[in-house]
Amino acid sequence: MSSVQIRSVSKSYAQTSVIKDVSVDIPDGEFVILVGPSGCGKSTLLRMIAGLEDISGGEIAIGGNVINDVAPKSRDIAMVFQNYALYPHMTIRENMEFALQLKKVPKAEIDGKVMRAAEILGLQDLLARYPRQLSGGQRQRVAMGRAIVRDPKVFLFDEPLSNLDAKLRVQMRAEIKALHQRLKTTTVYVTHDQVEAMTMADRIVVMRAGIVEQAGTPLELYDNPANIFVAQFIGSPAMNIIEGTVVGGAFESLDGISFPLPANAPAEGSTIHYGIRPEHIVLSDKGVAGIVHLVEPTGASTEVIVSVAKHQVVVQAHERLVVQPGQQVHLAYDPAKVCLFDESEQRIRI
Ligand code: ADP
Repeated sequence: MSSVQIRSVSKSYAQTSVIKDVSVDIPDGEFVILVGPSGCGKSTLLRMIAGLEDISGGEIAIGGNVINDVAPKSRDIAMVFQNYALYPHMTIRENMEFALQLKKVPKAEIDGKVMRAAEILGLQDLLARYPRQLSGGQRQRVAMGRAIVRDPKVFLFDEPLSNLDAKLRVQMRAEIKALHQRLKTTTVYVTHDQVEAMTMADRIVVMRAGIVEQAGTPLELYDNPANIFVAQFIGSPAMNIIEGTVVGGAFESLDGISFPLPANAPAEGSTIHYGIRPEHIVLSDKGVAGIVHLVEPTGASTEVIVSVAKHQVVVQAHERLVVQPGQQVHLAYDPAKVCLFDESEQRIRI
């Protein structure tokens, strides 16, 4: 086990800068998820920790030792990829043994490590099979087994669940989290899926266009987003955001609709963005008036899209709603739940 420090790291390909002065401090044993839209640089950052990409500026330390110039195989990390990267001509046992054989680990020790990993992952009965004889989930487990037997200081995961169907993804998500709780190995995990990040991480690092927008625990990011990007990236459906100004102690949208403000709101005339999460709104007979545009039941919850003048406000209800498109409704919520953002889209702390 080891800490990982990323200090003012940057990465450029020719003239293009893809990571810009990123710093992240990962204590020993923490499960950190790098999340952000496609192209934001999260895989590049992970690959720099692994040693698969050069570091253009700054430094990365593992266990207190700067590893910028340390060869990948000497960094004591194990990486699990999206495409498993299993050797097709080797059995599951051989796949798991391979890295240890290369390191000339004694056979008895290899046997012990492989059995322990197979037990943790429920692979004991599959060791004689070939990868083609396994399901996607089992193959992903073997890929993790290969990482576990090496007993690395750090696990790196690059979108490991993207190739699995939705049901298996949910199952593997729980397995990886349980695995971390058992092994407590420092883990850096990359995904574009905010639900994966929210459900698995001790701490989430939200990236956009090569920079860190915010880092924090899942609930810190949900409750206290630093800006509109994080507010809309974390949580599903996304936070409703409306542009307007403070008028007469309320918020007035650009098309003249009035919404309630929390206490200590910005001064009269301020131009702001007003944010409210779909799950904080209830349909009521009082509140902001609107017309039901669309009703989307999912079984467990119902999403209702309500037109309020030119805005489409998403409401998420956990009880069954009997509303029809075209029906007049009112949106009610506790104004203390509202998030306000300034003109540069940064959170206004009140
Ligand atoms: P993510 O993992 O967040 O989807 P990546 O780290 O893969 O993003 O890529 C970040 C940016 O770097 C992207 O804009 C991508 O096009 C660019 N990039 C990645 N690899 C190279 C490369 N070898 N040459 C030039 N640009 C690259």
